[in-house]
Amino acid sequence: MATLLEGPPLATRIRVEVAEEVRELGGLGLVTLQVGEDPASTIYLRRKHEAAQGAGIQSEDRKLPSEISEDELLGVVAELNSDEAVDGILIQLPLPPHLDEARAIRAINPLKDVDGLHPFNAGLLYLGRPTLVPATPLGIMALLAEHRIPVEGADAVVIGRSDIVGKPIAHLLLQANATVTICHSRTVDLERRTLEADVLVVAVGSPEFVTADMVKQGSVVVDVGINRTEHGVVGDVASEAADVAAFMTPVPGGVGPMTIAMVLRNTVKAARYRRGLLAFPKG
Ligand code: NDP
Repeated sequence: MATLLEGPPLATRIRVEVAEEVRELGGLGLVTLQVGEDPASTIYLRRKHEAAQGAGIQSEDRKLPSEISEDELLGVVAELNSDEAVDGILIQLPLPPHLDEARAIRAINPLKDVDGLHPFNAGLLYLGRPTLVPATPLGIMALLAEHRIPVEGADAVVIGRSDIVGKPIAHLLLQANATVTICHSRTVDLERRTLEADVLVVAVGSPEFVTADMVKQGSVVVDVGINRTEHGVVGDVASEAADVAAFMTPVPGGVGPMTIAMVLRNTVKAARYRRGLLAFPKG
């Protein structure tokens, strides 16, 4: 039976560290923008704000009407960019179809981009010089490090190539000297790949997509999926995979809490960049 890589103990420790850093910095501000009222997004945001406030961060959950125009949204972002009290800006995705997500993200000052999605920050990650990196991949790497799971030289397989999880975790694993394969919906013979994975990261968004027979004996399985079903929240990996893997993240209680902790850590990092306490690459 796999050892479970539980998120809450490490996430709690990070949140305590962040609270201390927030005190040292004399306060921090985080603003999230939610356009419309997607119920799942509302839950994620509430958790982020509770955690932020618990760490002493002034956080504002700004709700914008679903019919807001692109210019109005960009105007709100510009206002937050120039607000000295705001260290971090997070635009909750997805946006309604009439809004251009890429354009909205590009409008954020890269120094305040706590989701790490701005092309400048994404580009630096690609170049092996990570600055602000998406929180979920950071949380995964922290969880692996916490359990002293060796990544260097490992065959790592990532299923999913989103900008927020799949691509950035692949880059972080690559930087940690894993040999990385990225799989997606057009991958042929997925099982052949997953069975070779010493570290398997699954970010598909499909309940129990990876079954136990797709998992290599003694491997490490990171289940990023959060799927709400009639049986409650389940991951992208069937729980029986824990009979095959050596380590596995539970859902819930694995990667999710780490994501929230890392959003807070990113907010501290963003504040340090903007206040000149950390050097931010000039481009
Ligand atoms: P996306 O929908 O953006 O990406 C899903 C990826 O899965 C795509 O790259 C897609 O491939 C791939 N995929 C879909 N079907 C298949 C298939 N049959 N075989 C192989 N690959 C497939 O999702 P996200 O990355 O945003 O999120 C993934 C999951 O993680 C979701 O459940 C989400 O809720 C969860 N999540 C959890 C977080 C946490 O904190 N725990 C944080 C963020 C997300 P293609 O590109 O070809 O379409």
